[in-house]
Amino acid sequence: MNNFFDLQPGQTKKIIISSSLIQKDSQYKINIKHIRQTYNKKIMRKTLLQLAGLLYLTSLFAATSDVNYRVVPLPNEINLQNGKAFQLDASVKIVYPAGNKKMQKNAAFLAQYMKDITGIKFKTTTKSNKRSIILNLKLKNVNPEAYRIGVNSKQIVISGSTENGVFYGIQTLRKSIPVVKAVKVVLPAAVINDAPRFVYRGMHLDVSRHFFTVDEVKTYIDILALHNINNFHWHLTDDQGWRIEIKKYPLLTEVGSKRPETVIGKNTGKYDGIPYGGFYTQAQIKDVIAYAKDRYINIVPEIDMPGHMLGALSAYPELGCTGGPYAIWRQWGISDNVLCAGNDKTLTFIKDVLTELTEIFPSKYIHIGGDECPKTNWQKCPKCQQRIKDLGLVADAKHTAEERLESYVISYAEKVLNEKGRRMIGWDEILEGGIAPNATVMSWRGMSGGIEAAKQKHDVIMTPNSYVYFDYYQTNNTESEPLAIGGYSPVKTVYSWDPQPASLSDDEKKYIIGAQANLWTEYIPTFKHAEYMVLPRMAALCEVQWTKAEQKNYADFLIRVPKIIDLYKLNQYNYAKHLYDISADFTSNPTDGTLDVSLSTMDSAPIYYTLDGTTPSEKSPVYSGTLKIKENAKLQAIIFRGSESSRLLSQNISFNKASLKPITALQPVNKSYEFKGINTLVDGLRGNNNYKAGSWIAFYGNDLEAVIDLQKDTDIQSAEINTFVSQGDWIFNARSFAVEVSNDGMNFTRMASEDYPAMKQQDPNGIFTHKLNFNAVHTRYVKVTVTSEKLIPDWHAGKGKPGYLFVDEIALN
Ligand SMILES: [Zn+2]
Repeated sequence: MNNFFDLQPGQTKKIIISSSLIQKDSQYKINIKHIRQTYNKKIMRKTLLQLAGLLYLTSLFAATSDVNYRVVPLPNEINLQNGKAFQLDASVKIVYPAGNKKMQKNAAFLAQYMKDITGIKFKTTTKSNKRSIILNLKLKNVNPEAYRIGVNSKQIVISGSTENGVFYGIQTLRKSIPVVKAVKVVLPAAVINDAPRFVYRGMHLDVSRHFFTVDEVKTYIDILALHNINNFHWHLTDDQGWRIEIKKYPLLTEVGSKRPETVIGKNTGKYDGIPYGGFYTQAQIKDVIAYAKDRYINIVPEIDMPGHMLGALSAYPELGCTGGPYAIWRQWGISDNVLCAGNDKTLTFIKDVLTELTEIFPSKYIHIGGDECPKTNWQKCPKCQQRIKDLGLVADAKHTAEERLESYVISYAEKVLNEKGRRMIGWDEILEGGIAPNATVMSWRGMSGGIEAAKQKHDVIMTPNSYVYFDYYQTNNTESEPLAIGGYSPVKTVYSWDPQPASLSDDEKKYIIGAQANLWTEYIPTFKHAEYMVLPRMAALCEVQWTKAEQKNYADFLIRVPKIIDLYKLNQYNYAKHLYDISADFTSNPTDGTLDVSLSTMDSAPIYYTLDGTTPSEKSPVYSGTLKIKENAKLQAIIFRGSESSRLLSQNISFNKASLKPITALQPVNKSYEFKGINTLVDGLRGNNNYKAGSWIAFYGNDLEAVIDLQKDTDIQSAEINTFVSQGDWIFNARSFAVEVSNDGMNFTRMASEDYPAMKQQDPNGIFTHKLNFNAVHTRYVKVTVTSEKLIPDWHAGKGKPGYLFVDEIALN
């Protein structure tokens, strides 16, 4: 569609298009004054119609377009000046200091970016010109990534105290210019001062579960650069494939990079029968490092140890506790087969691999993993047990001897790295068993590991799965999404995150040096899919990483985000469009006896809806404020933006005698899965297969015990609940269900109850319905009690601990 103007030969026509066709938004203004083009008369009408629609989405073509400096991430200070604007046209040259290769590259980047956007070819030179964009290193700022942009009618000056700062100034300028093939681009006079909030701004990519080519990794690095990210965490090895050539151990890639086939779906036991593999030679890795370095991105390589090592063990079985043979994994999860910590060969292997790694990667930080290392084999292995004895490792109240043994292995790896002048990063499990002395902790299991490490005065990079695991679903409408690992992290949640939690003192907060999002690729087989998972969540991430906390504002972000999405389109990145969809908020309102529904989207586009299950059209009612639903309905809503429509929002609302009645919890809902609290159980909404999306609430270590006030004597003869079960996530079925009734809310009579057996390993996961029928009764108060699993059975990893109970609705009829 982008080029349809250029494709039509024929007569000359003048078309006037009013600027009122464009979204009226003071933050995002593009004035289209007139468009002159050559057309074939026959296609004119059709073209005009298409144009009206297109202009609503993005302005693709303009004679003059105004620049807006409010980009993503939002700069610290934008001061518009009174002077004349700068007109960007083909006569403008980009000037860089003679003899500075990095600045020459910076100039070339700017020229390329602006050519991609405007279609104009800009010359780069070391000689000052009448009207120029001048890049220099004259900024005095202690932050090496700070920059200043000054715009007046004669020149644009981008200054940094280092080339890095200038590069970020270039990114801001690039993102300021609207994506339009323009004759003239007008830059208002302004002074912009900017610097990042965090030193470490990271983005991760797992290339073990699925492999991405050198070209794809370079595209990923381009995407990182667009978001001012300065660290690429490259997860190179795991149970499913070893992806980096190590010259001293050639079998790592010859054998360890290949798996015979891959499990279909979520460890279904069915396999695709297709051999899978791939690795990077050291020459390719060096090429990628140089590519990233040009874009001021450091690459932090990760060799995950001592767990997640089946790639290596399949090639060198002598490194394991049993000596093998080991098969590279065809499925997902955590393997019990890990490096043998009692074997001297293992230590030599770690030393050799890390030594080669430091010879390839210039990064100050090297990541050694340290996560998810089961100790079951170490407990049985004579060599590991001998090592525990030799080192005098003993269990105490906090750590087992085997945890201390892992700490010994990690500390050994750290010593190897420290001797080479490098610093070690590990996942937050490295806190277990005592943390290695100089380690930096990457906190992934929520923020608590990072908080603990900061209190112990260790540097921390926050990357909590509760906010920034980009392999999680980005919508709660999971049925229309490609299969994902689970979870729920929409753009809004990513944006809401503050990596420096309020529970830390100002002094402790200084240890939080950065923030990162992770992309694990078990369920992400292609690079286009990877793009879909990271974009536009990376836009929200980069504002968390770069912009001062007090300047963040989600509503304002939504106004600015279309500009960076225009660059995704220009570069043909495959981004997710959920922001353009309708988000619905459902609140049970017992006071009014209604389910209150509010609908919203990122812009002011009209939302058309129906309640009778018919598909909404442009003739349907337009949403104009909270819908108060009193009876059964099927809500459907949609937005039409020109020729594109949003996804259809569809929600069944089904009421019973308990719906929207006052409900009181006698035992607390679990804080992590509380969402809108106990009212969720009487809101008329059933949960789907994503228990993190808000329609299920959880009880942990206690029971669901709640009283519903039917507000008047009512006939009931059955009670029904649904439970959600996912044993792998420690979510178990109910152990019992009971219904009691009362006319005074004090003295209850039991009407029916049932006990359920503990779950067996082979029992299925999913949604289960439990229903109790009883003799019809005329009553006002109903107490429902559903007990949770208090002792997880022995066959489960969580044996002896409580399991979660998830419930979505109580139905009384
Ligand atoms: Zn062992």
